[in-house]
This record gives sequence, structure tokens and C-alpha cells, in this order.
Amino acid sequence: MRERWQFIDPTLRKAPLLKMVPMLGSLGCPYTCAFCIDATVPYQPMDFEVLREDLRFLLTKVKRPLVAWHDPNFGVRFDDYLDMIEDAVPRGSIDFVAESSLSLLSEPHLKRLNRNSFKGVLPGIESWFSQGEKSKTGALVGMAKVRQVSEHVNLILQYIPYIQTNFVLGLDTDEGPEPFELTKRFLDMTPGAFPAYSLLSAFGRAAPLNLDYQRSNRVLPFPFHFLNNNGAMNVKPANYSWQTLYDHIIELTRYSFSARTIFRRLLATQGVTARWLNLVRAVSTEGFGRARYYREIRDRLDTDPQFPPYFEQESSVLPQFYRNIVRQDLGALMEWLPEGALYHDPNAYLKSEHSEDLIALV
Ligand code: SF4
Repeated sequence: MRERWQFIDPTLRKAPLLKMVPMLGSLGCPYTCAFCIDATVPYQPMDFEVLREDLRFLLTKVKRPLVAWHDPNFGVRFDDYLDMIEDAVPRGSIDFVAESSLSLLSEPHLKRLNRNSFKGVLPGIESWFSQGEKSKTGALVGMAKVRQVSEHVNLILQYIPYIQTNFVLGLDTDEGPEPFELTKRFLDMTPGAFPAYSLLSAFGRAAPLNLDYQRSNRVLPFPFHFLNNNGAMNVKPANYSWQTLYDHIIELTRYSFSARTIFRRLLATQGVTARWLNLVRAVSTEGFGRARYYREIRDRLDTDPQFPPYFEQESSVLPQFYRNIVRQDLGALMEWLPEGALYHDPNAYLKSEHSEDLIALV
């Protein structure tokens, strides 16, 4: 952080309200969620002495800063990190948020996080039919998993005011309307949680599972511009048609950000900042905005003649709708976009593995 301060400082000045300082305490993750880009990176803590000095340095620059731990999974070596924080700065002088899996958020850990002014956590639930290990739900699936996770998240809310629960939509383990209905039941039972949805995406060679998707020719060549988990889903769903999947996604987004759900979330959240954040996120591009965007995609799957051939991999010509978005986002920079930048080979990873096999044979 000390080395990056020349960049962090002007960024903080520009941030209108929420001034968050990004920190990284570790890389990689010991868990093995197949879709995750961090699953194959060995877990590596950063130097604790450097982290300690960074936190002390920050206190000389900002009064009561908010530090966001960007570790793929914060707290794998829970006691070591909390010992470091407690040693580095007086309790309550820095607020923290962190992305942590539910398996690390036991009640004793929550008590310690609370004492150290952790204001937000972002655990991944991902699916009601897989990823039980990181949620500490083991072999439980379906409604049984919903009940256990909901109880756990409600417990977390007693110690930490803000919780975002992450889900991946369109996983191969999901089928029919049930996964979406279960998420709605989870929201009913856990009104204080803010749900964040990601569309299943394959990022190049970042996860080994992408090889399977490419082998079965399921990866669409959506330009990188849209590969942010929401702009486009670039993996053809295994158990849904595109139309059905988008219908479910729209209905779930609508339910998650309906007036009733927003109101219940407001009542179930403690603290002005957490309430304000939940409200702003729901009515901004994230909640209402995404619902609008998904509806547009769904409509075009029926009405735009360029959509079905692209989504069904009969054509690799990017529909004009997406080109227009890139043009709008890039503005004056569009003319500098190199020819061909909107195209890439979606099976490059698989092909490179084949060539490596051939080289090994030779
Ligand atoms: S627990 Fe989170 S960071 Fe770790 S592999 Fe799974 S999704 Fe990735």
C-alpha cells in the first residue's frame, strides 16, 4: 500500500462517498471450486510484516479508513491475520470488509471480527446443489442447504452489519426452476443479506473447467468487454435453453430487488451505512439496471434476428446490439480499438493444450 499510495490517494479523493482502500493479504485459495480462477493458485499469504506496516502507514494518512481485503478468500489463516491486525493498529481505528467463505465464519471468528471492526463480509454460496465444502454444509443440498446457510447468515448479521451473498447462475449442477425458487426462499428467510448474482463465465485458461467447456464446444466468443460476470454469459447452459435461463434470471432479479424485498432488507439491516448501501445498490445499475439489461437480452432472443444464431453458435458475428454497447462505453476511444479486438478464439485454451501434447510427443 505504501508503494501504491501515489495512486490510491487520488482515487480516494475522487470517490464521492465510500472511500475504500484496497488491500491484499493473500493469493490463491485452498478450496477447489472448479469454476473459480483462484482454485488452481496455491494459497500464499503476503508478508505479515509488510501488511502490519501498511496498516500503520494508512492510519497516518486517513482518519478511520475503510480497508477492503481483496483476498480470494480472506482468513484462511484466520488467527495469523487477526493477530497481525490487532498488533498493528488500535482496535476500532480501521474498519474492514472482506470476502470470506462461510466455512471460515464460525461464531468465535465472528466475535473476533466484530471486535476488530469488520463491517462487511462477502461469502460465496454459489449454488444450492454444489460447493458444500466452502459453505460448511457438506453433502446437504436443496432446501436443507438453504435452511442451514440462512441460519448461518442470520448469525453473521448479529456480529457484522453488512453481508453480500454471492451466487453463480447457470452452473451445470442446476436444473429447472428449483435453484431459483430456493434462492427466493433464502431471501425470504434471510432478509438482511444482499444477493449478488454472477452469470457462469469461462475466462480463457483461468480455470481447468474451461477445458471441459471448450471440449464440448460450449464457449461463445463474447468479446472481453462483456466478460464481467454480468454483461454476457459465455458458456452455453447445460440444462436450460437461453430463453428459459434468462426467464429465470429476470424473475429472480425482479424478486430480489422488488419494493417488498428492498423494504424487508432495510428493516433487517443495522446501521445507516449498511442500509444506505443496500438501498443504493438495489436501485442503481446493479439491481434495477441489471434487471432492465437482462429483459432486453431476453426480448432480443425472440425478436433480434442476429441473436439466436450467435447464442446457438451458428454464427460468430457479434450482434449489433453488443457492438453498440462497446461503442457507447468507449466513446471517443472507439476509433483506437484495433481491428479484430472484438473477436477471439473461444477454444484457444484447448488448442494450446493440443499443441503442447504434440510438442511433448515429438
Ligand atoms: S472458496 Fe472462493 S476463492 Fe476459494 S476456490 Fe472457491 S470460489 Fe474460489
